[in-house]
Amino acid sequence: MSEKVIGILGGGQLGRMLAASASLLNVKIVILDVGDHGPAKQILAPTTAQLAHVDGSFSDPQKIRTLADKVDILTVEIEHVDVPTLEEVQKATSIAIHPSPSTIRIIQDKYRQKQHLSSHGSPISPFMAVESTAESVRAAVNQLGLPTMLKSRTLAYDGRGNYAIRNLSEVEQAISALGDRPLYAEKWVPFAKEIAVMVVRTTAGEVLSYPAVETVHKNNICHLVFAPLRSRDATLAHRARTVAEAAVKSLSGAGIFGVEMFLMEDGGLYINEIAPRPHNSGHYTIEACETSQYENHLRAILSLPLGSTALKVPSTVMLNLIGYSNSMDDITKTTKLALTIPGASVHLYGKADCRKGRKMGHITVVAGSDAELRARLRPLLQSLPDSTP
Ligand code: ATP
Ligand code: MG
Ligand code: MG
Repeated sequence: MSEKVIGILGGGQLGRMLAASASLLNVKIVILDVGDHGPAKQILAPTTAQLAHVDGSFSDPQKIRTLADKVDILTVEIEHVDVPTLEEVQKATSIAIHPSPSTIRIIQDKYRQKQHLSSHGSPISPFMAVESTAESVRAAVNQLGLPTMLKSRTLAYDGRGNYAIRNLSEVEQAISALGDRPLYAEKWVPFAKEIAVMVVRTTAGEVLSYPAVETVHKNNICHLVFAPLRSRDATLAHRARTVAEAAVKSLSGAGIFGVEMFLMEDGGLYINEIAPRPHNSGHYTIEACETSQYENHLRAILSLPLGSTALKVPSTVMLNLIGYSNSMDDITKTTKLALTIPGASVHLYGKADCRKGRKMGHITVVAGSDAELRARLRPLLQSLPDSTP
């Protein structure tokens, strides 16, 4: 399909699903991640000795250079990579990097990302810079009102990096809980629902969006994703796709982007954040869309024609399998049950250790109607322990 070799910074579950898609197209992949047996490397034997995977961190400059020496295109499955090294590779070589290092630089700092989006006309709720001092955070709370969401600007995922300040007396605790990372503050958004749209952008700068979906979070972690988005407002899905496409158009580089949004009671939309890579809210596309987010990411960065983003089933849901403890037993129970449910597909990520709050896998269910979907999902939800994180 393409002689080009792709190097991926990061080898977790998103890298694993990218690798699975690449194998169908016979596209060669080299992974950079710590260890030899992470989720992506496990399922992908190196094509040749020269194309051996790289053992090291996606934030280690020397290891990124080692990866770059082996490949034609670099891409990421995580945004917390070393951008200066990617910029250096971009200047010194003819390797294509998608999305562009400048896009990753903007997105990996959530405060800078919000500034970028608001200066490009995307709808964003109020936010402000803070110093990591009680005085500065208190001033922000006084301006934004209670509750205030205090957020780490960098290295955030699964809500680790967020602290909801509900009372001025919690300010010190919030700062120490978020550690020594740079912070900023966001006004609390009393959203009616959370929604998301995956958008894929070609090397020529054209964008194509997937259907809008509803995402349900528990304790800041994505729990369920429903597609298509159901609403009495017939304009909503189209409006959400338009907002997401406009935001991705303001960034450079090719590939797939996940756009997380807040839907307000009055139908208004705010962008929460953008991921410059495949995204949890797009896992459902593997079974439920004409072309998965993973395959379209590969097609986009290889300058191949994009596939249709349309749903090919009437209704679908994705359930994340999140660790409850150090034991996989509860997850195994739910996955075994899923094997007995029509339309259910199990994805396990092959992570060595199960931990509370860690994403260990997911289940996608497809159905002929919303009623059938709910009937298929119900026993899976009932099988989860009460202490669902
Ligand atoms: P991800 O795993 O999606 O990258 P993250 O660590 O970057 O997560 P956010 O997406 O910023 O975290 O926030 C996680 C969740 O916290 C959101 O999906 C939403 O449920 C809630 N949240 C975030 N910001 C706000 C806000 N300003 N007001 C209310 N709730 C919020
Ligand atoms: Mg995030
Ligand atoms: Mg998020």
